[in-house]
Amino acid sequence: METERLEKTNDEIEREMLAEAGITQVGDNEYGIDGKPYTVRFCGRTEDGFGLLWECDCPAAKFNPDKMCKHARLVADVSGRIADTLGYD
Ligand SMILES: [Zn+2]
Repeated sequence: METERLEKTNDEIEREMLAEAGITQVGDNEYGIDGKPYTVRFCGRTEDGFGLLWECDCPAAKFNPDKMCKHARLVADVSGRIADTLGYD
């Protein structure tokens, strides 16, 4: 049985979904928010292994590091949707 070739690669889908949300990947596990001078970083998993840790260098995140700022929430949200779309864990 022939495998149907996908029109877009996973990388392309990922970039498009990020762009639609106003996010640009700027490095390994690093994301820029369009129009903002902040960088959101993926920092691995929580100790229980279920949650994902994100940090942002905006003032709100510095002021309250235990709470996810809106930038980190945005990137986490979109990255979760990308994972669902592409079938990642
Ligand atoms: Zn932030």
